[in-house]
Amino acid sequence: MQNLLDFDAQGLTDWFAAQGEKAFRARQVLRWIHRFGETDFEAMTDVAKSLRAQLHEKACIVPPVPVRDSVSADGTRKWLLDVGSANAIETVFIPETGRGTLCVSSQAGCALDCAFCSTGRQGFNRNLSAAEIIGQLWLANRLLGATPNGERIISNVVLMGMGEPLANFDNVVAALNLMLDDNAYGLSRRRVTVSTSGIVPAIDRLREVCPVALAVSLHAPNDALRDELVPINKKYPLAELMAACRRYLEKAPRDFITFEYVMLDGVNDLDVHARALIALTRDVPCKFNLIPFNPFPDSGFKRSRPERIRRFGKILIDAGIVTTIRKTRGDDVDAACGQLAGQVVDKTRRTERRTVALMEAKS
Ligand code: SAH
Ligand code: SF4
Repeated sequence: MQNLLDFDAQGLTDWFAAQGEKAFRARQVLRWIHRFGETDFEAMTDVAKSLRAQLHEKACIVPPVPVRDSVSADGTRKWLLDVGSANAIETVFIPETGRGTLCVSSQAGCALDCAFCSTGRQGFNRNLSAAEIIGQLWLANRLLGATPNGERIISNVVLMGMGEPLANFDNVVAALNLMLDDNAYGLSRRRVTVSTSGIVPAIDRLREVCPVALAVSLHAPNDALRDELVPINKKYPLAELMAACRRYLEKAPRDFITFEYVMLDGVNDLDVHARALIALTRDVPCKFNLIPFNPFPDSGFKRSRPERIRRFGKILIDAGIVTTIRKTRGDDVDAACGQLAGQVVDKTRRTERRTVALMEAKS
């Protein structure tokens, strides 16, 4: 059975062609699935009866299954989705005045092991399929409904949930294509953001195939510290990352890169770090988004104090860099950045290795 949620427009057209069906039929079905949220081929009334019967036989439309729905006091909503084999992922909806943002996951777990991230702490199980990625938007649209004047509630999508999107490149791009497609969700490139820890060759590929807005998780102003906090830095150090950001801007829908910077008390939040960031990013038009660290058990880090974050931000602002401090949303339901853990069966057995390492360190 082919899950049609796995296809972007091109994929569906190719699959239809293989069944001897024309491209406009694929577009019709794409609209039914993504615009109208239909899962029943019988309800697709403008599709020929014979084709409906054929689809019924060979295909299905199966989104991930929500197993928990939590609503935070601030209106943030978090869904836990079952993706089989004891793996669960999380999707978060953040309502704000004038816009609604859906934060989407791209992997069950993450292999990159950033020191301050609870998803990284769990280890990696597998890439999500395109159906599981776009299925989060499909499902959230259905569960949230529309505004009283019929508009969709989700206006922006950020790939900032569990996982490293650029480590699951093809499936993420198929899902991005659907987000942008007028026959599907029709979002503008500016309203779709991929957040990456900095996989340089994949940033270049994204620029070529689907340049949406880009956020880069910087977290440190020099290689020595970044090697510790974001281990992928050892492979793609800062000079290469900054060069990739400059190249990306040639095609980006916005004229700046967003640098995310988690504020870790006493680790990366001193004035000297802020000044080094100004020098590092001198040739990269950028905005900074400072994220107060969201704690999780045994993380070993503390959140910087609010006045420290403000002062750090002021140093950047005084140097002419637009800087915002991310509001912590949904932390009462563990929906804040870096708190998304779902439940992942760790194929890398990272947790086990870490426990052993901790025991060795203690003895
Ligand atoms: N893997 C991608 C996207 C997912 S994480 C990336 O790393 O960019 C989304 C953002 O949350 C990243 O900037 C990430 O570094 C940050 N983050 C991770 N753990 C966090 C924590 N405990 N507190 C605050 N932000 C965190
Ligand atoms: Fe993976 Fe991003 Fe977490 Fe790093 S911060 S471990 S890349 S999800």
